[in-house]
Amino acid sequence: MDFQKLVAVFEELEQTASGNKMREILAEFLKTIPAEDIAVVSYLLQGSIASEYAAVVLGIADKSVLKSLAAASGVEASKVQKLMQELGDAGLTAEKVLQKKPQTLVPVGKLTIHELFEKLHKLAQVSGTGSQEQKSNILVSLLQKTSPKGAKYVVRIALGTLRLGAGEMTILDALAIAYTSDKKNKEQLEQAYTICPDLGIIAETLVKKGLKGIEKIDLHVGRPIKMMLCQRVEKLEEVAEKIPGKKAVEAKYDGERVQAHKDVKGRITLFSRRLENITAQFPDLVKELAKQIQAKEFVIEGEIIAIDKDGHHLPFQTLMQRRRKHDVEKYAKEIPVLVKLFDLLYLDGHSFRHEPYEKRTEQLGKIVRKNKQVLLADKIVTDDLDEVNDFFQQMLKEKYEGIIVKSLSGEYQAGTRGWNWIKWKKEYVQELSDTLDLVVVGGYHGKGKRSGTYGALLCAAYNEKEDSFETLCKLGTGLTDEVLAELPLKLAKYKLRQKPVRVNCNKEMEPEVWFEPKVVVEVFGAELTRSPFHTCGSGLSLRFPRFIRFREDKKAEQATTVKEIEKMAGKGKG
Ligand code: ATP
Repeated sequence: MDFQKLVAVFEELEQTASGNKMREILAEFLKTIPAEDIAVVSYLLQGSIASEYAAVVLGIADKSVLKSLAAASGVEASKVQKLMQELGDAGLTAEKVLQKKPQTLVPVGKLTIHELFEKLHKLAQVSGTGSQEQKSNILVSLLQKTSPKGAKYVVRIALGTLRLGAGEMTILDALAIAYTSDKKNKEQLEQAYTICPDLGIIAETLVKKGLKGIEKIDLHVGRPIKMMLCQRVEKLEEVAEKIPGKKAVEAKYDGERVQAHKDVKGRITLFSRRLENITAQFPDLVKELAKQIQAKEFVIEGEIIAIDKDGHHLPFQTLMQRRRKHDVEKYAKEIPVLVKLFDLLYLDGHSFRHEPYEKRTEQLGKIVRKNKQVLLADKIVTDDLDEVNDFFQQMLKEKYEGIIVKSLSGEYQAGTRGWNWIKWKKEYVQELSDTLDLVVVGGYHGKGKRSGTYGALLCAAYNEKEDSFETLCKLGTGLTDEVLAELPLKLAKYKLRQKPVRVNCNKEMEPEVWFEPKVVVEVFGAELTRSPFHTCGSGLSLRFPRFIRFREDKKAEQATTVKEIEKMAGKGKG
C-alpha cells in the first residue's frame, strides 16, 4: 500500500476535533485496507511500529533527524536548524524543507507502508558507535521517497511525536464498525484486547479470520495480558456481601505490579502495570526468578518492593528510582528489591486464567522456592470478618497500604476491576476518601515564586465508555519545590498546540497549555461536589485537591474512571 494513502488519512484526522468523527474516518479508511496491510496500518495509526509491550525503541536523536532533512532536501543544515527553531516542530520543518527541495532532486520511487515499516524496524535495531549516522541514513532513504506532507509524518513517527489523538480504544471501535455489523461485537474485540494488547494482531485476526478467530485469541507467553484490578467498598462489612464464606486476604503492598513471563527458551520478560517491558531495569530480579521458580514456562504476577539492607520494605517512591536506562547495575545494588508473588496465569503449556484463585495460588506455591528476594504474598484464609480486620490492622502496623480480599473461586479477570478482588485501605478507615489517579491535560503558567514553571495543572478522569478524558480539578496545592522544578521538563514532550481530541473541557477551565493525556498524578481531595466548571460525569469537581505523587506506573487509560468517581460522589464519599 502506498504510504501516501495513509498520509491522506493522517491529514484528515489532524483536522478533526471530534472523537466520533475520528471513529467514522478511521472506520471508513480501515474498511479499504487489504488483510496483508492491516496490522502495519494499525501500528502506524498509533504513531508506532509495534505494540508498546514489544519495547521497540527508535532512538533517533533530533540532531540526526535534522541532518537527514538537510541531506534529503539539499537544503543547508544551518537553514534546517533555523526553521526548526522557528516552527518548534520537526514534522512541520520536514514538510517545509522538502517543499524547498530543488527540482533536480526527484523522488526515488514511491514509499510503501511496508518499506516504511521495515526500514523503521531496521533503524530501531541499529546500536553502538556510529549508530546515529546509520539511523540518519535510513531516514534519508525514506525521506527521499516521500512527498513533503509524507515527510512530516515520517519524521513524527521516527521521533515518536505523532499525536493524532486516536487512542487504542478509538481504533478498536473503528475496527468493530468497519468489520462487524453488530455493536455488541466491539465488546468482544475489547475482551480479546485485554488478553492480547496488540492492535496489529487483533486487526489482522479480525480481517483474516473474523470474530471466530478473535474468540480463539488466548494468553501467549512473552505477550503480557492486562492485569486484574480491585474494586473498593465503603464498609468492610460489604466485603462479606460481595465475597460470602471463606475468602483469601492478602497484604496490599506499596510497590510495583509485575507480570513475569518465562518462555521455553528460558527467557524471562517482566511487564509493568502499563504493560511496558521492564526486564532491563531488574536484572537482579530476573536472575532470582530464573533460579527460584521451578517451571519451564510460566506467567506469574506479584508486587516488586524496594528494600533496605536489612530487608525492610521501602516506599514506592524509592522503588521508582529503579526506573532508569543507565546505571542499572549500580542502582540494583543500592536499591535492592524483592517480589511478593500472588498469582499464576500459565504453567508449562497450561493456561490457569479460568481456574479459581485457590487452584492458581496452590500451584504457585508448589513452583516457588522461597528465598529473601522471591516470596509469596502474606495471606490468611478466613470467613470471619473480625479476623479480616485483625489482619488488616496487622498489615497497617507493617506499614503496608492495606489488604486485598480475594474470592477463592474467582477466575483471573484480565483488565477488569471486578468483585473477585476487593481492596481495603487505611484511607477508608480514617474516613477519608480514597485518593484519585488523574491525568494531566493542561497547565497554567506560574507567577511569582512559580514563574518559569506551572502554577496549576488541569486534571481529568478517564471515561472508559467514550475513551475520553473529563476534567475534575485544577491542581496547585501539594506541589513541592522539587516537583515544581521537575514539571516543565516532564510535561514538555506532551505539549500540544490545540486541545487533544479526547479531552472534554468547559470554556471556563481552558488551560494556557494543553498536554497530550499521558502523565498520571495521584491526588487527594476534600470532597466531590457538583460544579458547572468541570466535565467529569454529571459535572463533578474535586474540592481542595492536593498533589501526592506521580503515578509513573499508570497509563492515562488506567487513571480513576468517571464511573468510579460518580460512584464515590453518589455515596457521599469525598
Ligand atoms: P491503588 O491506587 O489503590 O494502589 P490501583 O488503582 O493502583 O490502586 P488496584 O486495582 O486498586 O490498583 O489495586 C491493585 C494494585 O495493588 C495492583 O496493581 C498491585 O500493584 C497492588 N498490590 C499490592 N499487593 C497486592 C496483592 N497482594 N494482590 C494484588 N495486587 C496487589
